[in-house]
Amino acid sequence: WKNAPPNLALLIQFARSHGDRPFLIYQDERVSFDAAVRAVAHLATKLAAMGVGKGDRVALTMRNLPEWPVAFFAIVSLGAICVPLNAWWTGGELEYGLTDSGAKVLIVDCERHARLTDTYGTLPDLEHVLVARPRDALTGKASALDDLIGPATSWATLADIPFPQVPIEPDDDATIFYTSGTTGAPKGALGTHRNLVTNILSSGYVQARVSLRRGEMPAEPTPKTWLMVIPLFHVTACSASMMGTLVSGSTLVFMRKWDATEALAIIERERVNVTGGVPTIAWQLLEHPDRANYDLSSLELIAYGGAPSAPELVKRIHAEFGALPANGWGMTETMATVTQHGGEDYINRPDSCGPPVAVADIKIMSVEGDRELPVGEVGELWASGPMIVKGYWNKPEATAETFVDGWVRTGDLARVDDEGFCYIVDRAKDIVIRGGENIYSIEVENVLYAYPGVTDAAIVGIPHRTLGEEPAAVVHLAPDAQASEAELQDFVRQRLAGFKVPVAIRFSDTVLPRNANGKILKNELKALFDVG
Ligand code: ATP
Ligand code: MG
Repeated sequence: WKNAPPNLALLIQFARSHGDRPFLIYQDERVSFDAAVRAVAHLATKLAAMGVGKGDRVALTMRNLPEWPVAFFAIVSLGAICVPLNAWWTGGELEYGLTDSGAKVLIVDCERHARLTDTYGTLPDLEHVLVARPRDALTGKASALDDLIGPATSWATLADIPFPQVPIEPDDDATIFYTSGTTGAPKGALGTHRNLVTNILSSGYVQARVSLRRGEMPAEPTPKTWLMVIPLFHVTACSASMMGTLVSGSTLVFMRKWDATEALAIIERERVNVTGGVPTIAWQLLEHPDRANYDLSSLELIAYGGAPSAPELVKRIHAEFGALPANGWGMTETMATVTQHGGEDYINRPDSCGPPVAVADIKIMSVEGDRELPVGEVGELWASGPMIVKGYWNKPEATAETFVDGWVRTGDLARVDDEGFCYIVDRAKDIVIRGGENIYSIEVENVLYAYPGVTDAAIVGIPHRTLGEEPAAVVHLAPDAQASEAELQDFVRQRLAGFKVPVAIRFSDTVLPRNANGKILKNELKALFDVG
């Protein structure tokens, strides 16, 4: 499997070797690898009959339903480009994704279908729309996807048919994933089969070996049960996690909607070994008031990335779950994982996101981009390797700015230590510059997280007439915890230079607002500070 061909269509065939093992579990549905591959072949055949071929864009937007991976693999096996759209998007945003990608076919669940048709009456310029049947509401008629591959429970009874024969080269286009739009409008990152398959080396690694130590590779990937709680339209879930199951034969458990209580029940019932996704999921499991009532002894690994995580989290996962924490860094432009570590390495360096995976290179460049910086210095992180996408769909200028000689400029500020471990210091756009002094919001947030009872913290810059900007904080406390603005300010003052102490702290009754990829929506938080 280490020499897996860089062509996803072949890997789908490979999945057949797992036979009756469960590929995914969704509520009371269980879909074996064998049944899933049959369903994929049937859908691919139907799509081919509709005229979907190489390079055509097929948009896919739905909850994490069993149809999601089936549709994904069917599309890419035809050499067509799968365009996963953010299921949290409004009708208008979905329309942006459809138009921007020039999608010819849309595969959609009924909720998003209604969202689009309510907004537009008719759907924009699509040749075909396939709607996944409603599972929870008994409202809809049998849907197009039902007609194509039947209800999930009957997939196993589908005839074994060959895949349409489409020659696919490793560097053919496979996906357009949209960036999460934290710093502007989402951009479509154009990924290849090679990019997708590269992830198998790192994600298979995580699924296979929970006691991750540098330099150790598992002899055989071992199947695990993986509770997949983050949305599949994000590269972390789709390519970093889902892809690895094809190799290791692991089982994915999907949830209709994130709910910490339900997640605990599922972990107990299905004997889940791996979960996580983004740091906030780990926090919510840890902080759950009834956690002790569930048997969580099957948990081996809590792996996350996609957003900064406080060192405090690592210690608590290890101490309170007895599971190993793992952290990985990646971005939509890298089709997921570039750096990654877990177990002892991570516990000993809780503020690092790990060294680069075997096939990736990283370097720290001056912010101007003209010279490489020495070990220990903070600059912009650049990454290269077979996971870096070709560029942005239809955005030649943004592509030229971001992708330089095989490297991607990440927009993250980072340093690398003398052992090669990477430390994300902040996003270039998130630093608060107070009278010329740089304040890395993550540094201050990590101190706030160390205060007992603080479970969520964000630093935002608020305008100041002469200093330019000042740091302010928004904090959420656990239900039984107490802290005042002055106490938190003192706590930071004892640990960091005075100019880093937040000038104002607001308490939020709820966890802080995040986008679907687990990133705090800092622009919304700024509105809490009346800046007149
Ligand atoms: P946009 O580029 O549209 O503004 P985005 O950068 O938020 O959106 P993503 O591609 O989903 O979209 O996120 C990538 C970013 O997530 C990285 O640039 C980095 O800032 C952050 N990130 C990812 N993994 C980690 C990690 N392990 N630790 C800290 N930050 C991380
Ligand atoms: Mg980005």
